[in-house]
Amino acid sequence: MTRLGGDSAQLKKLKAGDVLNMRIVSGRLEELTYAIDETRTLSVRRRGVGYESTTLTAALERRQAESVGEIRSSLFADGRKAGMSNRMILEFADIFGYDIDFAQDLQEGDRFAVVYENILKDGRKLREGDILAAEFTNQGKTYRAVRYVDSEGRAGYYTPSGESLRKAFIRTPVDFVRISSGFNLQRRHPILNIIRAHKGVDYAAATGTPVHTTGDGKIEFVGRKGGYGNVIIVRHSGNNQTLYAHLSRFKPGMNVGAKVRQGQIIGFVGSSGLATAPHLHYEFLVNGLHKNPVTVTLPRAVPLNAQTLVHFRALTAPLVAKIDALSDRSVALSQ
Ligand SMILES: [Zn+2]
Repeated sequence: MTRLGGDSAQLKKLKAGDVLNMRIVSGRLEELTYAIDETRTLSVRRRGVGYESTTLTAALERRQAESVGEIRSSLFADGRKAGMSNRMILEFADIFGYDIDFAQDLQEGDRFAVVYENILKDGRKLREGDILAAEFTNQGKTYRAVRYVDSEGRAGYYTPSGESLRKAFIRTPVDFVRISSGFNLQRRHPILNIIRAHKGVDYAAATGTPVHTTGDGKIEFVGRKGGYGNVIIVRHSGNNQTLYAHLSRFKPGMNVGAKVRQGQIIGFVGSSGLATAPHLHYEFLVNGLHKNPVTVTLPRAVPLNAQTLVHFRALTAPLVAKIDALSDRSVALSQ
């Protein structure tokens, strides 16, 4: 049967767990169907002495759905109660993750509302799509987000006025680390044994741990620099710079002038230069002045430009109206 050609070749790629539906009449196979993917179904039918295969394509339908609720115990428990899936709850927490710490800031009586997409096939729900709009009222303050895909095809969440919900910088350049030495202008240097300001933060991590740039920008310096050892300096918009020192090595392609994106790996933790143990020394500069990277107020990502904003407003207005209506409903619910 796999000699039928066309999509019937899919039958050669069957994996354990795939489902084949067969109709057998008097010991003879009359029809076999197999779902190739979300939209395509292969159908092989007996025709005389042979078989004929066709591929049926179902159109997917997108339908908006919504959930509202109030926090009584946790975002997870109350989200589930409001009909949100685990995945959607995580996505929701992620959207507001720069503004709300869902582990620390949550209060009983906080409210949430979400507009999302359901993907339907033949009128039946196949899976959930993306969150299109969301609202969270935390300790009396309301945060809103709408999804928008920009001209480069990048999806992001914005406030209804077009500000990105993403920050221009992520807080830490390394994952799963502990701060081994904080920002301190009066620190005794462990090697030099003199009082010398520590104008950055040290993150203890094993040699080779990836180091991520914390914001979009351009490489300004890459190479060795005295006590810093192997160091990368990135220049960002808004007159900000970040510095990553004591690296064991650089990621290939990190040359002066190279563009880097927030979260991109630029090098690896090491102990080059004046370092007693492997760690990343990280500095954050605003207009050439050192700021404490742990506490500095991180600017928002660049907002949409005027031209994009027109498109954004037109596209997101129905979503904003919908979240307005939901918001009223969630207030009524909690009274
Ligand atoms: Zn340091």
